[in-house]
Amino acid sequence: MAYAFFIDTTVCTGCRGCQVACKQWHDLPAEETKNRGSYQNPPDLSFDTYKLVHMSEEIIDSRLQWLFFPEQCRHCIEAPCLETAGDASAIYKDEATGAIVYTAVTKALAADDIIQSCPYNVPRKGPGGVLAKCDMCNDRVHNGRLPACVKTCPTGAMNFGPREEMVQLANTRLAHVKAKHPKAMLADPDDVSVIYLIAYEPNHYFRNVIASAEAGGMTRQMALQRMLRPFSRAVRSMQG
Ligand code: SF4
Ligand code: SF4
Ligand code: SF4
Repeated sequence: MAYAFFIDTTVCTGCRGCQVACKQWHDLPAEETKNRGSYQNPPDLSFDTYKLVHMSEEIIDSRLQWLFFPEQCRHCIEAPCLETAGDASAIYKDEATGAIVYTAVTKALAADDIIQSCPYNVPRKGPGGVLAKCDMCNDRVHNGRLPACVKTCPTGAMNFGPREEMVQLANTRLAHVKAKHPKAMLADPDDVSVIYLIAYEPNHYFRNVIASAEAGGMTRQMALQRMLRPFSRAVRSMQG
């Protein structure tokens, strides 16, 4: 069964419980915090931080809005990182859940190509070139448990379940939120397994809320693989 997240940023309080729960489940170290003039800590995803709550203070329609965006890998339906890697021992899709999972074999990949292929700027490089990101808590999901970030969320902002149910929930909430916020939208709902509802235009939250047209999601290597695919298939069928 394909699973999906529905993340309703309109009820997120920025408590960062999801950020901490992710580190606890994956046994990831904390990062040293620093005052940068805002509540944002750490400033970005990293090899040790798979989930990050972005906090922004924006003046919208002459009113100050404090906006939160709990960022993570979107587990793309057709994942550019997976296609770029072209090596299922390094990056694979778990067909049972829809999770895009990275293994230790990612250290053998061209890390920069993988990173640049991601339209949401998610993968991060660690020691020896190994890549890391959110794995959908695939081990928990296979054992009938919710992802750690969903389990811990106290407000109902984080939701997880069968994709159809999450899409339905997202559309219901969107219709409700639109009554007060006409610019409310779902971020790339047809392309990803992590569907965000935002009340304002994406640029108010942070730069990677929707897929980047610049990243394009396709490196030269990936484009080449796609071009060669029909040829490779023909050769394989001739070989019987
Ligand atoms: Fe972290 Fe698991 Fe949530 Fe992904 S699904 S952000 S790995 S807690
Ligand atoms: Fe890969 Fe980026 Fe999509 Fe995650 S968001 S599956 S890292 S392309
Ligand atoms: Fe927002 Fe829920 Fe994460 Fe708290 S745990 S920051 S309310 S998504």
